[in-house]
Amino acid sequence: MKIYDISMEITEHMMVYKNKPEKKPKIQVMGDFTTGSSYESRISMDLHTGTHIDMPLHMIQAGDSLDTFDITKTITPCKVLDFTHVSSGITKEDLAVHSIHKDDFLLLKTKNSYVDFFDPNFIYLEKTGAVYLAERQIKGVGIDALGIERNQPEHETHIQLLKEGIVILEGLRLAFIEAGDYFLYAVPLKIKGVEASPVRAFLTK
Ligand SMILES: [Zn+2]
Repeated sequence: MKIYDISMEITEHMMVYKNKPEKKPKIQVMGDFTTGSSYESRISMDLHTGTHIDMPLHMIQAGDSLDTFDITKTITPCKVLDFTHVSSGITKEDLAVHSIHKDDFLLLKTKNSYVDFFDPNFIYLEKTGAVYLAERQIKGVGIDALGIERNQPEHETHIQLLKEGIVILEGLRLAFIEAGDYFLYAVPLKIKGVEASPVRAFLTK
């Protein structure tokens, strides 16, 4: 069995959404062997840092938090679809050439996977694409951007998916993953009442 790690590495210098300095993780060494007999550190970061899951509460008032997360949704067969030819938003037309079925978990591979800095013109899932996937009743969708939407003040892409209970994974790294069928493992931390969590995501084949 081959295992492919599709997670971003968390560092103080990693790319963060819109390159906002306050979104960069802070890793602090609280004690080490010069001060005691163990090494302990602390991290402070947004829950939307790197590879992460979004819950409905992120975009829907009183929506479900991580408390309701169903682990079978992200330990699942999945399909990687290649959209590296797309130059802006992935639309319904882009998706419709693939056979997409109820309960599929789709990972959208785009040009984003080939850059490790924040590009404000990153490839995203356009609203018509989100509506199409919601109609197909897929289980989840992941993308290799820190946001699944771009420049949408009404957050239509997120909302179309989250209101149907479709899991969203963001911040995947798919450069070395060929399109095809895999098994996905992506598990959030068990944090009470929150709208998102970092995940370690990997694929097996
Ligand atoms: Zn997010």
